[in-house]
Amino acid sequence: MSFETKEKDLLARIGKLKTKSGTVETPLLFPVINPNIQPISPRKLKDDFGFEAVITNAYILKKRFQTKPIEQGLHKFLDFDGAVMTDSGAYQILVYGGVEMSQAEIVEYQERIGSDIATILDIPTGWKVTKNHATKTVEETLRRAKDFFKTKTRNDILWVGPVQGGRHLDLVAKSAVEMGKLPFQVHALGSPTEVMESYRFDVLVDMILTAKMNLPIERPLHLFGAGHPMMFSLAVALGCDLFDSAAYALYARENRYMTENGTWRLSELDYFPCQCSKCAGESPKEVVEKAPKERETFLAEHNLYVCQAELKRIKQAIRDGRLWEHLEMRAHAHPALFTALKKLKKHGDFIVKYSPTVKRSGLFFFSSVGLARPEVVHYRNRMLERYCPPENARVLLLVPQTRKKPFHKAHEFNRIRQVFQRLGEEHSGSVHVCFYAAPFGVIPLELDEVYPLSQHEIALPLDRETVDYVADQVLDYIKRAHYETVVLLHDPQQWGDSVKKLCKSTCLKKGVRFEHVNIKAEGSKNILTRLEMILKKHLSE
Ligand SMILES: [Zn+2]
Repeated sequence: MSFETKEKDLLARIGKLKTKSGTVETPLLFPVINPNIQPISPRKLKDDFGFEAVITNAYILKKRFQTKPIEQGLHKFLDFDGAVMTDSGAYQILVYGGVEMSQAEIVEYQERIGSDIATILDIPTGWKVTKNHATKTVEETLRRAKDFFKTKTRNDILWVGPVQGGRHLDLVAKSAVEMGKLPFQVHALGSPTEVMESYRFDVLVDMILTAKMNLPIERPLHLFGAGHPMMFSLAVALGCDLFDSAAYALYARENRYMTENGTWRLSELDYFPCQCSKCAGESPKEVVEKAPKERETFLAEHNLYVCQAELKRIKQAIRDGRLWEHLEMRAHAHPALFTALKKLKKHGDFIVKYSPTVKRSGLFFFSSVGLARPEVVHYRNRMLERYCPPENARVLLLVPQTRKKPFHKAHEFNRIRQVFQRLGEEHSGSVHVCFYAAPFGVIPLELDEVYPLSQHEIALPLDRETVDYVADQVLDYIKRAHYETVVLLHDPQQWGDSVKKLCKSTCLKKGVRFEHVNIKAEGSKNILTRLEMILKKHLSE
C-alpha cells in the first residue's frame, strides 16, 4: 500500500504517500511547473520553500522538449529531486479542444521520462455541458482507464485514475465506482477548475463528496486546479489529499496578491498583511515600482509562502482536532465559502463515519452551522441507537444548561439536589434529570461528563436554528422514552417558547402529564418550593 494515514479530522487526513523518489506527507500541494515560463526554479521550491513535490504537464513537455526529458530523466531535466507528478494534457483538451496525442503515446512518454505520479489521458467533462456530453466524457475516460492497464509497463509509478462527470452527480458517482474497481493508486477529481473560478464552492462540496462516497476511501484523492489557500481547508476537510496550484504564478503575472482570506490587487494595498521573507522588508508601493519580471517573482514567491503557511495551519488543526474551527474561520472569508460550509449539514452522516469524535481538546460552538460537526451528529446518533432511560424513572425533569460544566456541578443544580433530598429515600430514582443544552440536545445527568458534553464552549445568545434543533431533540427524546410525567424548568430568556411548546404538544399527544416552572418568573426560593410541590404530587399518584 503506497498511502498510509497518520492523523484524521473530519474527512481530512495527514498521511504518508510513498513514491519512487521518496515519501511525501499529505495534505500536499504541488506547485505547477511550466518549464517555458517558470518564475521560481524547481530547486528553489524545494530548498527555500520546502515543497516536497511539483507537478508538470507531460503533454507540454513532449510537444516542446520532445526527447530531452527522456534522455536526462524528468528529475534532472527539471532540476528537482523530490516527487514529480505529471498531468497528461487533459486540461489542454478542455481549454483548447482536441489533443494531437494518443493515450498510448502520453502514457508511454510519462513512463519513459520517469514520473513518480502520472495521469492517464482522461476527457474532462467541463462545467456548462449537457448531460449527454458529460456521459460521453465519463464513458470514454473509463474505456481509456481499462485500456491503460493493458499497455502500461512500469509498476513503480503511482497512476492516477481521474473521476469525471462535472456537476452531474449521478455521473460522478458512476465514474467513481467504476474507477475505484480498477487498481489505481491515486484518484483525482476532474474539471473542478471552472466550478471554483465561478465560486460555486457549494457545487464543489457535492462533487467532492460524491466522488469520496463512491471511491475506495483508503486511496488518496487529488483535486485538480485547487490553487487558492482560501479554500484549502474546505477541500482538505472533505477528504482531498493532494492539490496542484498554478494560481501562485498566474496571479503573480496579473499583479495579484494572495492571502488565506482572498486576493488583492497589488495596487490596492497600502500594507502587506504578511511577514514572509519577501513582504517583511518592502512596502506595496515599492513592489509596484519594480520592473515587471522582478515584481512577478516577488508575488509568485509571496503567494507560495501563503499557500505553504495555510497548509501547515491546516495540518496542525488536524492534529489538534480543530479543523472544524479552522474551517468556520476561513468560511467567513467569502459568502460562497460559507454557503459551502452550510451544505455540510446534508452530509453529516457520511462525515461522522470517518471522523474521530473524541479529541484532545474541547470544541467551540459559534452558530447553527456547527450543528453539522461530527461530534454533534455522533451524539445524536448514539442517543437514538443506544440510550435507554433508567427503568424505574417515572418523572423526567428537564433542566436548562448552566454556564458551568459539568452541569451537575453548577450551583443552580445544587439547589435542585436539595429538593430531591426533601423528597426522601423512597422517591430517589423515580425522578430522572436530563439537561437540555446547545448544541447537543438532551443530556442525561449520568452522561454529562462524557466527552464532549462538558468539553465545549458556546456563543450566547443562541441563534434561532440552534434553539429549534435542541427543541427537536427534546421532542424526539420524549417520544422515544416512557415517562409518566415531564417537568420542564423553563428558561424563556435563553430558549424563548420553542422547547416549552414542543414539550407540551408532544406530551399531550402521547398522553404524558406535563408541568413547567418558569425559572425567571419569581425568586429562586419560590421556584424550588413549586418544583417540590409538583414532584411530590406526581410521585404520590
Ligand atoms: Zn508575504
